[in-house]
Amino acid sequence: MAKEHSLIGNKGIDDLKWAQDLLERDIVESLQKINGELEKSPEELKAIEKINFYLNQELATVGLDAVIVVEPERIHFLPQEIYKQEVLKEHQDSPGIAYGAIHKALINVNDSSNRLVKYKTILHEMVHLGSFIKLQIKADTKDLYLLRAGYQNYHPQEPVHEHFGGLNEAVTDLITFRIWYRNREALMKEFSISQEEVAEAKPASYEAYFQVLVKIIKGVASQNNLVENKIWDKLVKNYFTGEVMFLREVEKTFGKGSLRILAAMGSAEKVNSEENYKKQSEFFSNINEERRQELAKEILSEQEWLKYQERRN
Ligand SMILES: [Zn+2]
Repeated sequence: MAKEHSLIGNKGIDDLKWAQDLLERDIVESLQKINGELEKSPEELKAIEKINFYLNQELATVGLDAVIVVEPERIHFLPQEIYKQEVLKEHQDSPGIAYGAIHKALINVNDSSNRLVKYKTILHEMVHLGSFIKLQIKADTKDLYLLRAGYQNYHPQEPVHEHFGGLNEAVTDLITFRIWYRNREALMKEFSISQEEVAEAKPASYEAYFQVLVKIIKGVASQNNLVENKIWDKLVKNYFTGEVMFLREVEKTFGKGSLRILAAMGSAEKVNSEENYKKQSEFFSNINEERRQELAKEILSEQEWLKYQERRN
């Protein structure tokens, strides 16, 4: 995979060397077959090859000349029961998972005969693999910690304390959708995908997050006199480059503290109920400051609410 990770740490060059070696070793190990892994059919191999092509086409569309190559060996097809053993409890029912730092994805292969559903999952996870990754070097314990994956932020000491997980999934879905939409006719023909399969496959894996993002883009565009499509393009580009200019625009548009609301979307710390999405959606479509304040209190965990208020004062 011709993609560099950004390694940070305030250490000397020797420390960087061990970190690079460690990462390299894990990246090579990710190619190895998992016990019980399913063989890929020639059609599935062809789909992965196509997805690589489309992914690079998407990069070019937003003005990037980086090249992503995901070898098919990095995408592990696992029967459901093996998938459940391989991933953490909270991910056991997910259709797939990507480990961006080590270039590895697992696909939860169930009995669904809908190939489009399967290919969309592979595409979604491969998009994750292409996203910007930042790792922290810990010289004392000779460890590497994930700090960023796309828009998602992790805290090195508290891995459950993550931010912008929902935004990250929404952008991953967006890229998946753009690729599908642009190439749908060719893909349907090449893989003889039926209209029924298309009708069955959901447009997004994380519909609720995506709807919140739509509200945000509309708000940012209208308040700053910007073209919506340009913002979408930038959002995609920054998912791969790691720039976070967009987040500043969000705060400028929706007020100080509003990033806490966006950061909390999809966070493991607070129950992400249907009701909470509605509140987030309302937060980003409401221009009344007072109402936003009320909503913020309801949406955020106690700790985040305190930080929200600090930011406002
Ligand atoms: Zn995802």
